[in-house]
Amino acid sequence: MLKKILKEVVTLIVGKQAEDIVDLLDAKKHINEFIIAKKLDLTINQTRNILYKISDYGLVSYIRKKDKKKGWYTYFWKIEVLKSLEFMKNNLLKKIDQLEHKIKSRETKRFYICARCNLELSEENALLYVFTCNECGDVLALKDNTKFVREMKKSLEKLKRDLMFLEEERKKEIEKIEKIKLRERRKEEKEKAKKRPKRKKVVKKPAKKKPVKKKIVKTIKKKPVKKTMKKLKPKPKIKKKPVKKKPIKKKSKK
Ligand SMILES: [Zn+2]
Repeated sequence: MLKKILKEVVTLIVGKQAEDIVDLLDAKKHINEFIIAKKLDLTINQTRNILYKISDYGLVSYIRKKDKKKGWYTYFWKIEVLKSLEFMKNNLLKKIDQLEHKIKSRETKRFYICARCNLELSEENALLYVFTCNECGDVLALKDNTKFVREMKKSLEKLKRDLMFLEEERKKEIEKIEKIKLRERRKEEKEKAKKRPKRKKVVKKPAKKKPVKKKIVKTIKKKPVKKTMKKLKPKPKIKKKPVKKKPIKKKSKK
């Protein structure tokens, strides 16, 4: 679904022939423009033209690396998913708005037609020509818009559905970005913690949670076994039970 939307974005900006570039640009890392050209069987200039067009809308990002031997820069590209989805969202909203206006206009205004010339006039224009066709002189007829309106409403529903799907993808993408940010922040914090010896204990804490859980499971399993043993061998001397398990829970969580 996401890829389909991204391809639609590229089609809107560059044209259908360029949509395959999405398969290469929608990756975790930036991709070398020479590899893009090779894989799409395009020249480097054709490839750059496509990328620059998308770049004009801010929907791709690049990094550049200097070739140490040749001294020139090679560019690496990547599609900006969230920005592309926002671009598509605005596009859809605009279309929906236009269609709603059209429907409203058809539902509230009258239109006249000349069937012979296949002409359509607004009521104001029809009035201007006294309801006769300017081309052939036939009497204009009032247009029945019901079918037209019905079709437009169908298209409107489809656009609204598209918008809904797009919103889902947009939310997913935002969540993804948030997760990445969080991971990076945690990494930074860990590295900071390593530099400060005092905070070592804070880092170790989460590891202690697991052994506590394991011990609870073991005690539950052992109990019934011990009971049956007691019944078979009535030795009241077994008083080894009071194993202190509480000290493990001493340190509270953050
Ligand atoms: Zn006519």
